[in-house]
Amino acid sequence: MANEILINVNRCTGCWTCSQACKAAYHLPVDEYRLFVRTIGDGNIDEAGGTWPNLYLKWNPVFTTECKNCRGAESTDGVPYCAFNCPTGAMVYGDPDDPESDYAKKKEELLDRGYHMWKMPAWEKTRDGVTYMEKGI
Ligand code: SF4
Ligand code: SF4
Repeated sequence: MANEILINVNRCTGCWTCSQACKAAYHLPVDEYRLFVRTIGDGNIDEAGGTWPNLYLKWNPVFTTECKNCRGAESTDGVPYCAFNCPTGAMVYGDPDDPESDYAKKKEELLDRGYHMWKMPAWEKTRDGVTYMEKGI
């Protein structure tokens, strides 16, 4: 199976490093993104939703169809720039069918910890091969 991206939503801090790493690697214009980070909150960037004290705030990295599903470079060991540069380990990359891959190991670890898996719905028109894992707090 082709390598895919796995995102631990609970670990994502909304830092945008993944998005900026892609932009820097491909010298994208200021207003062009292959990946952006959506705030799940009150509708504005980095603002929590809900009513005090029951607030929530999290982030979903969203891959557009402009993403080239790249393999980074030799310097990134074939890992896409976005996943390679994620500082929290929220985004991992590998072959879902290879039990020794970072992808498969992270998936098993998170399933054991009670996380559930989901994908973006078709109407979001995002690229294929991206799975999210998340656990309620
Ligand atoms: S997989 Fe490659 S092209 Fe796609 S967002 Fe990541 S770095 Fe950019
Ligand atoms: S996936 Fe990683 S690099 Fe991207 S916003 Fe989340 S924590 Fe930052």
